[in-house]
Amino acid sequence: MRTRFAFAAVVIMMILPPPTLLQGQHAGPATTYSSIDGAHLKTYVEDLAATSRRYRDNGHPQFWGRIIGTEADADNARWLLTKFKSIGLSDVREQPFDLPPQWMPQSWSVSATAGGAATTLSSAQPTYRGVGTPAGGLDLEAVDVGFATDADLAAQDLKGKAVFFYSTDFQSRHSTISKGAVKRIGDKGAAAIFITLLIPGNLRFQFYPVGAQVPTFALGLEDGMRMRDMIAGAHHSGTPARVKLSLDIQLTPNLKTATIWGTLPGTTDETVFVVAHRDGWFEGANDNGTGIATMVGLAEYFAKIPQAQRKRTLVFLGTTGHHDGTAESGAWLLEHKEVFAKTALIINCEHTAASLLIASNGSVVRKAAVESPLGWYIGGSAALEKIVTGAYDTFGVSLMEQRSANAAGEIGRIQNLAPSMQLIDTGLYWHSDHETPDIIPASGLAAVTRAYARVIAEIDAVPLKDLQRPQPTTSSASNR
Ligand SMILES: [Zn+2]
Repeated sequence: MRTRFAFAAVVIMMILPPPTLLQGQHAGPATTYSSIDGAHLKTYVEDLAATSRRYRDNGHPQFWGRIIGTEADADNARWLLTKFKSIGLSDVREQPFDLPPQWMPQSWSVSATAGGAATTLSSAQPTYRGVGTPAGGLDLEAVDVGFATDADLAAQDLKGKAVFFYSTDFQSRHSTISKGAVKRIGDKGAAAIFITLLIPGNLRFQFYPVGAQVPTFALGLEDGMRMRDMIAGAHHSGTPARVKLSLDIQLTPNLKTATIWGTLPGTTDETVFVVAHRDGWFEGANDNGTGIATMVGLAEYFAKIPQAQRKRTLVFLGTTGHHDGTAESGAWLLEHKEVFAKTALIINCEHTAASLLIASNGSVVRKAAVESPLGWYIGGSAALEKIVTGAYDTFGVSLMEQRSANAAGEIGRIQNLAPSMQLIDTGLYWHSDHETPDIIPASGLAAVTRAYARVIAEIDAVPLKDLQRPQPTTSSASNR
């Protein structure tokens, strides 16, 4: 028996490549990457969500998250530094930035009255960098303008009123919502604007700046519909509904943030950058807990492969993020293009996994047992694209049908400085208080992180120039 086992072992060793090659140095079977464990990565998402909740519970009940310049920012920077060090990355460091005065709403309240009834609109969340109210607050007549189309607005007098509109732009947290409704309403002299996203529940949504000159809030669907009923009921009774609001904004000076750097040296000075933004609103489980988890998972995976087998140096960046609009890390990188002189690939880890959420029955969001399809961007050669899409295929990464023309998000500024790629999810709960670890599937985290690992391993054998975008030919250049 002993001899037969020994013989079998020799045969197996002859058939299989040496174990080091199975570690992912070259394209291996999908099982090669099974040491990247989704449940393990999800504990990182939970750590980061806990950082946000700690900040919330420490005196910031309304505007909270891993917000740039705050204790939650410093907290997750320390968390990442510790991770990078314990993984054994070299040159682990913090690159500090002084922030311009930061928009920090101190407190707000919104309530409504109609026909003797009163209600608090507890889901109201001011749009980022929006204007506050005067110290005494505002007391305004409320008006419902439906979907705020031109026809909706044509016959309405909005001057000095609190204007409520409704939007089906489920993925918008932007000024472009409902094709510029905020601007149309503002142009008609509104004194306050309320955006209700028709996503079931009563979510708090954090919008990016919407460009309004008056206090502007997002509302959850339940609050929005209750308000709609109050406005309509009061209108029929002859006494309009009214809204009281107060919003105290401060610009906080002298705050700091940082890019967190870590390096895993290869055998050459060619690099692959792995980027994940550190900031996020509310628990930010997907935006960007998953991205950070994916980045840390990649660092863990490649740290276990001997340096002699990794041609390219991996550089890991926990960036400051872009939610505040100034995007310190991205701006610095854009001014220091030289860091990408020998970069084979920039991989952006951003919102890498969420469960598919389906709005149903008008009042319920159901969580599917499958992953939300991801938006995907690849900026590089056909060879790079083949490697990347092959990796997505291998691990069953769920994708949108159409690829995105641009990266946007955290690497939007630097996407053209080197070959670059990303997957990104922005589902129903994006930028809301429902974006919790509960909607993060370990399976999706594993699939995307394994796919990224395989891409890094496979491109290691491809010369830098063969990964870059095709350059415009001289004839097409002279035609311009
Ligand atoms: Zn993000």
